[in-house]
Amino acid sequence: VRATRGGEEVRGYVPSMGQIFMRRFQLVTQFRQALEDGQVSVHYQPKVSLPNRHVLGVEALVRWRHPEFGRLDPDEFVPAVEAAGLIGALTFFVLEESLRKVRSWLDEGLRMSVAVNLSVRNLADAEFPAKVVEALERIDVPPELLTFELTESGVMSDPARALPILRELHALGIVLAVDDFGTGYSSLAYLRQLPVDQVKIDKSFVLGMGTDLGDLAVVRSIVELGHSLGLTVVAEGVEEDVARDQLEAMGCDVAQGYLISRPLSEDRLEAWLLARTVRTPGRHAETVLTL
Ligand code: C2E
Ligand code: MG
Ligand code: MG
Ligand code: MG
Repeated sequence: VRATRGGEEVRGYVPSMGQIFMRRFQLVTQFRQALEDGQVSVHYQPKVSLPNRHVLGVEALVRWRHPEFGRLDPDEFVPAVEAAGLIGALTFFVLEESLRKVRSWLDEGLRMSVAVNLSVRNLADAEFPAKVVEALERIDVPPELLTFELTESGVMSDPARALPILRELHALGIVLAVDDFGTGYSSLAYLRQLPVDQVKIDKSFVLGMGTDLGDLAVVRSIVELGHSLGLTVVAEGVEEDVARDQLEAMGCDVAQGYLISRPLSEDRLEAWLLARTVRTPGRHAETVLTL
C-alpha cells in the first residue's frame, strides 16, 4: 500500500487474507511448544480498594513473546487458541502461575488475591471445577483468594452449560466477576440470575466518563445497580486522577488501570509491591498506595 503524507511517500504493509490465515495457523500449531519453551508468560496488573487504596490483588494477563512476530497481545492469540481447542492448556498455565504467586505472597505474610480470565470454552468442560480444586489444593491456596473473570457475552452464549459450572465454582468459595460489563447486549436483569460477586465496568465507559456524559451515566448506573444487588463494583481503565476521584465519589469499590499501574512482569510487580509494603510487627503485611 502506498500513500502520501506531507509529500513523503509512506509504504505500509497490509497482509492478505491468506497471510492472516497462515499466521493464525502458525500460532495455533506453535502454541503448545511455545508454552514449553517459556515464550508464554503472565503479567499482573494491581487492583486497589477505594477510597483507602490498599492493594487487594492483581489480574493475571497472558503474554506471548513470539520468536518471529514479537510480543503478541492476548486479543490476537487467545481467540485462535480457543478455536483450536487449546484453551484448557492456556487457562491452566495462567492459573498455576497465578496460584504460585499468591502462595509465595502468603509465605511472605501478604494476603492478596489473583484474578484469572476464563474463556467460555472452559465452562464447556464439566471437569473444569475438579481440575481447579486439584490446583488449589496442590499449590495450597484458599479458594477465596482466586477470582475468575468472565465476560457477560461469554456466559450468556450458552447459559444452560455455563451456569451449573459457575454455581459449582462459586460453591467452592471462588470469587466470580463479570468482566467488560456494559458491552454485551444482554439486559441488566440477568445479572441477578448469575452466581457472581463482582461486576467490572468495561474500560470504554471509564475512559470516556471524563468527556462523555453518556459514559458517565452508564458508569454511575452500573455502580448503583451493582450495589443494589450486593456486588463489589470494579472499574477497569482508570487512567486519570479525575476518573479515580469521580469513581470514589460514586462509591465504586475497586480501581484498576494505568493510573495505578500497567500490567507488570513478575519481577517488576515484585519491585512495585515491595516499594509499597508496610510491615507492622505481629500483623499481616499491608500494601498501600499513596496515589
Ligand atoms: P480484560 O480481562 O478486560 O483485561 C483488561 C485489559 O485492559 C488488558 O488488556 C489490560 O492491559 C488493559 N488495561 C488495563 N488498564 C488499562 C487502562 O488504564 N487503559 C487502557 N487503555 N487499557 C487498560 P490485555 O492484557 O491486552 O488483555 C486483553 C484481553 O485479553 C483481556 O481483557 C481478556 O479478555 C483477555 N485475556 C488476557 N489474559 C487472558 C487469559 O489468561 N485467558 C483468557 N481466556 N483471556 C485473557
Ligand atoms: Mg479481565
Ligand atoms: Mg475487561
Ligand atoms: Mg476486554
